[in-house]
Amino acid sequence: MSNLSQNTLLLAKEADKALADVYAKIDETALKNTEKVMNAFRANRVSENHFAASTGYGYNDPGREVTEKIYAQVFGTEAALVRHSIANGTHALTIGLFALLRPGDTLLSVTGKPYDTLEEVIGLQGEKGVGSLSDFGVNYRQSEIGDDFSHLLDDTVKVVYIQRSRGYGQRPALSPEYISEITRYVHAHSKAYVMVDNCYGEFTCEKEPEADLIVGSLIKNPGGGIAVTGGYLAGTEKVIELCSYRLTAPGVGGEVGATIGQTRNILLGFWMAPHAVAQALKTAAFSAYVFEKAGFDVSPKFNEERYDLIQTVTLHDPAKLESFIQAIQYSSPVDSFVTPVPWAMPGYTDSVIMAAGTFTGGSTIELSADAPMREPYTAFLQGSLTLEGGKLSILNALEAVTKK
Ligand SMILES: *Cc1c(COP(=O)(O)O)cnc(C)c1O
Repeated sequence: MSNLSQNTLLLAKEADKALADVYAKIDETALKNTEKVMNAFRANRVSENHFAASTGYGYNDPGREVTEKIYAQVFGTEAALVRHSIANGTHALTIGLFALLRPGDTLLSVTGKPYDTLEEVIGLQGEKGVGSLSDFGVNYRQSEIGDDFSHLLDDTVKVVYIQRSRGYGQRPALSPEYISEITRYVHAHSKAYVMVDNCYGEFTCEKEPEADLIVGSLIKNPGGGIAVTGGYLAGTEKVIELCSYRLTAPGVGGEVGATIGQTRNILLGFWMAPHAVAQALKTAAFSAYVFEKAGFDVSPKFNEERYDLIQTVTLHDPAKLESFIQAIQYSSPVDSFVTPVPWAMPGYTDSVIMAAGTFTGGSTIELSADAPMREPYTAFLQGSLTLEGGKLSILNALEAVTKK
């Protein structure tokens, strides 16, 4: 017996019916991406010996080398770094930025203000003297999505930066095709590298964006809910070499890095990732449908193309927002008894309330929801390893906000 009301269960049925074509298209993408991953595992002859743990320097770790070749093949790049020792997405992006930018160079973001945690990395706000790009004499410029940035693309621009996902913003995610078009334009008109924050985008489409460097977190899409920590950078041979010098030390690079038993998780997670992403996308489409039906603003709509995992539901009311997040927490497999409250999270400007009842701390390929406590009181929802768990959570959240 369900503790959901009859009306809620009827709405869920209606949603599944209306979403049949959307679900089918997501399955098709998952099939194609799984084939890509399968081909890469086969081409690299993955076997059980690759799961062995290295220690110390980690020289000649075949599992680490094979993992990086697989990522490069699947993402269509020449090389990659895939490391459990990268703490999060911000760390991975920071490695990329500091690898490519030198004093006097300019970083040009062509997708508006980057993700909140990067503001202190770039030096847009926060303390002086902490070692931000600005402290090292790197200049910063930005243009908004869709704006002509040709007048900003002078000889000092070393990195053109693109954020694929909407992040905590009210903006659409960008398609791989659109990003690849920007890359071609930049390459035709300058010597700048194109770097993409690919967080939340991996495996949502049949292609990944073409760029000199794409970067992401393993506790999001490509970790498949199995990798317990880590990040990746994938790109050209030359760029990945520079990143490897920043990851460890110049001259040392990617030849070191003990895997301490994490390779199996990272590879199993990558194998699972296309399927996990499909579950998350279906959960997002399902929530878009039911919350729109209940009269809330949602983005994207249930039948819109998706280029990242994020679904927003705008509640226009701080109390409803808190109820929404609390209901997601209540529906989580871990810490269901905890009541989330807003807090000042390091790296974020406004106080944030989050539901994160996940097996891996902070994982957002598992169902999670977060919201900065500011107008218009929008919840950012992402992930879910199973559509079933996602649906039940969403329906609980729907009942929680419509009761108020
Ligand atoms: C998650 C994310 C990041 C990095 O955040 P971490 O919490 O450090 O992993 C950067 N950009 C976008 C768009 C993201 O979604």
